[in-house]
Amino acid sequence: MTEGVFTFSVGDFKCVSISDGSQKIDAQALPTFFIGSTAEEMARALRQHGLSPESHDLQSNCLLIDTGDERILVDSGGGSVYHSVLGKVVPGLAAAGYQPGDVDAIVLTHGHLDHVCGGIDKDGALVFPNARQIMARGEWEYWTEETDATAMGARFVDDVQFTQDCLRAMWSQMQLIEPGDDIAPGVRAIPTPGHTRDHISLAVASGAGRLICVADTMDLPIHIEQTTWHPDWDEEPQEGLRSRRMLLRRAVAENALIHAFHFPFPGVGYVREDGDGWRFEALA
Ligand SMILES: [Zn+2]
Repeated sequence: MTEGVFTFSVGDFKCVSISDGSQKIDAQALPTFFIGSTAEEMARALRQHGLSPESHDLQSNCLLIDTGDERILVDSGGGSVYHSVLGKVVPGLAAAGYQPGDVDAIVLTHGHLDHVCGGIDKDGALVFPNARQIMARGEWEYWTEETDATAMGARFVDDVQFTQDCLRAMWSQMQLIEPGDDIAPGVRAIPTPGHTRDHISLAVASGAGRLICVADTMDLPIHIEQTTWHPDWDEEPQEGLRSRRMLLRRAVAENALIHAFHFPFPGVGYVREDGDGWRFEALA
């Protein structure tokens, strides 16, 4: 197995989880992932998951779905411009046997820069020349027209400006959809608002195989067990938690694999019922 590339199948579809890299979360920032917990509860959960309270490598896992007819990339990662630690999607694709020109569609689950900025290179050129980029209309409008970076706090201003510049530079490739629309045969968007206003997840079906891309409805396997804890930057936390629980119920009901963008690589596994709640069972 090439490092940062994990291949699995969903029915007849070939899927490849590709690491875009990881960002260091330090001891000060770690509690912002677990709003709703006490310090003791967080410490216990980290211990149970074998995680250090001092720092965490937050992964970014993009996903390529090769349906046989189309190659669909789910999120393009952070690109090489802003975070030197991200931007590994293109070499990851190459390791899996794909060139940027092979990608037919990119689904952008939401407008955060670690998910959308991989579509543009440092010179402002399109990285995936043949891809249409699919995003929920409301999400596009929010990030390109309505968002008020200053209101989000000073530390976000540069990131939001950068994200807006990236999105606008990719306008010629954009195809705006309603959350819940079909994207391709066997690939459908699921409205999962909360993390951002029109955040979408994906339901993938081929034969008896099922996969749900949960994107940022959960950042760590702890969020599967603790469905009242949420990250500090969820725009509508209670709505986000409802979206998360809906996906967890659906994953169990359909015995679907999930792919989670920020889980430890490759972020692929099953959701299992556990008492009144759920737990994650990694595939790899
Ligand atoms: Zn993210």
